[in-house]
Amino acid sequence: MPSAKEAMWDAHSTEVSFDCQHPNCDHIVYGEVEFVTFDVSAENVSDGHGFSRFKTACQECSTEYTLNALSFATGTEVKVEGYPDLRVDYEFDDYGYEEFLANYEPDNPFATFMVARVELLNLLQIPSPFPALPFYRMMFLAHVSMLEAYLSDSLLLAIASDTQALLALGETISEKKKYTLTEIAANPNFVYDTVKAALQDRSVHPNEVGEKYFKQVFKQTIFRTDETRTYFRKMTEIRHDCTHRNGLTREGVQHHFDRGTIEEFAERVNQLVGHVENIRNGR
Ligand SMILES: [Zn+2]
Repeated sequence: MPSAKEAMWDAHSTEVSFDCQHPNCDHIVYGEVEFVTFDVSAENVSDGHGFSRFKTACQECSTEYTLNALSFATGTEVKVEGYPDLRVDYEFDDYGYEEFLANYEPDNPFATFMVARVELLNLLQIPSPFPALPFYRMMFLAHVSMLEAYLSDSLLLAIASDTQALLALGETISEKKKYTLTEIAANPNFVYDTVKAALQDRSVHPNEVGEKYFKQVFKQTIFRTDETRTYFRKMTEIRHDCTHRNGLTREGVQHHFDRGTIEEFAERVNQLVGHVENIRNGR
């Protein structure tokens, strides 16, 4: 299993194109370039450059070309050998984020949550150098993020090992999209990869939608009481106001946060995670 860092900095490939330079050809040459990203761990910056070299040929006139790809910390440059001024079109996904997500397998969502929780609560004990409201709003969002990551990773782990759960969640969240038999046959993990990507495409909020996902996978609700469901639905709405309107309601009223509201929210989040842990562990 690759670590996040390895996945982020793995070699990956992209399509490049440029005008064929043969005097009697006006075609565009296409080629696939696999390149190595800048190695941030290299001791000297000059050692960190990734260099790779590829051959391609014009599909029309068969003129051969050599492509040189050089990666810097800021991005990658591709040149056609012998034509230093020739423009090469390409789109590098420099962060490889899609590939990173596809390779991501959660390890221990509960342990990750607990470490993040302790770190955040420690922050509350230090006199904050920041203006109170933005600081506490940030603390609120940090708790929301770690809760949503915990919920999402718990679902990912469950569907990785339980075919019934995988199919049940897939029925709920996969797009009603048609796949060819060739696409399906090409990947032995087709169902898992498809449902996983659909899950990673959305945030798992602690509201009715997130509850539905958990019901599909674990046949149980994540909310012990109706009051809990109502509380977290409200918090999910406030989250939306915080991320989209900088903490203002639709009517322009500022949501209030202080140390007390954050401590209460942290405790409610902790209780919810504790309840989901019981479900995950079959208790
Ligand atoms: Zn050509």
